[in-house]
Amino acid sequence: MPATDAPILVTGATGFVASRIVEQLLSMRRRVRGTVRSLRTNRDLSLSPLRTLPNAAALELVEADLLTEGSFDRAAEGCSYVVHTASPYTLTVTDPQRELVMPAVNGTINVLASCERARVNRVVLTSSMAAITDEPESDRVLTEADWNTKSSLERNPYYYSKTLAERAAWDFVKQRRPWFDLVSVNPFLIVGPSLVPGLNTSNQIFVDLLKGTYPGIVGLTWGFVDVRDVATAHIRAMDAAPASGRYICAGEAASMRTVVGLLRKHGWDAGYKLPAIGLDNPAGDLIVRLGSYLQASGVGSYLRTHVGRVPRYGTSKIRRELGMTFRPLEQTIVETMADLQQWGHLPARR
Ligand code: NAP
Repeated sequence: MPATDAPILVTGATGFVASRIVEQLLSMRRRVRGTVRSLRTNRDLSLSPLRTLPNAAALELVEADLLTEGSFDRAAEGCSYVVHTASPYTLTVTDPQRELVMPAVNGTINVLASCERARVNRVVLTSSMAAITDEPESDRVLTEADWNTKSSLERNPYYYSKTLAERAAWDFVKQRRPWFDLVSVNPFLIVGPSLVPGLNTSNQIFVDLLKGTYPGIVGLTWGFVDVRDVATAHIRAMDAAPASGRYICAGEAASMRTVVGLLRKHGWDAGYKLPAIGLDNPAGDLIVRLGSYLQASGVGSYLRTHVGRVPRYGTSKIRRELGMTFRPLEQTIVETMADLQQWGHLPARR
């Protein structure tokens, strides 16, 4: 059995979510082992934010690839806890089986097999609301008992990859009865200030709103959660002995109209092309649905399954069992916008 000061393994340490988990663990003076696909010099840009974190001396970085069997054996060796976040997150792919499903599903099984061999105590899996629902139903509150049964390689393939990966993880535990127990965290749309330079797919929403990508205010509503709260939820799911099962992880749901209003309130309309025409009505929904067929297929199926729908979800389990509270969306947006500007992700003002 691993020693009590054993390192905590975080897979995909350079990711938007994982880097925040690493940051918080180091601030708690925990030992961390992070996996990255490559430690070569061209990765300096994403590795240096990790290597310069406070207490970074307690961070060890090792290479591992989701697609290589046994790749995580060395990384998991001697660890007590493993937080498995690595998984491709993108809506625009040309080969969803190869680019999304294989790394998500085979990667999860590879990581769990390494954890089984290393006899770790607990694995916290970063799953997603994508494994809960393919298209939110405005008149029903989603809970941890819900599973996405509609996504496929053609329809919301990223959602499909997350659903198959989480199912594979629970099946692994049921069939193999490993030493470790499994807990999953299922966040909705994760936004927030980034420790790493890349622009995350979810923060891209703010950039798109400023760039005028949307023809108007469309009928989309997102369940938002701050990346720093998601990181805290993972650590609590790891540390809280009675934690079990799945945890929906989300703060406020807000419509595009609300988000645009907050951006205007904080001065992000000057020099930018924030949408103004109201398409958040039945006629607008129809226009968006028709227009969705002109978009890349991943984006198109997302629009068709989400426009005009308001996600409703219960967060009582994560609040009660993990003591989670969530930052107000307005605060997250203000801090995210400043961060996007600092990383140079925002278009120039006109
Ligand atoms: P991200 O910044 O793109 O991070 C994804 C990580 O996965 C990266 O570190 C990436 O490594 C790694 N990865 C991808 N393919 C890999 C492979 N073949 N081998 C090893 N590592 C690989 O995305 P994120 O938003 O932080 O997502 C982290 C997790 O949260 C994912 O499981 C995602 O599904 C889940 N999630 C995200 C959201 C959201 O809104 N962002 C919402 C719900 C759930 P490289 O740096 O080498 O590419």
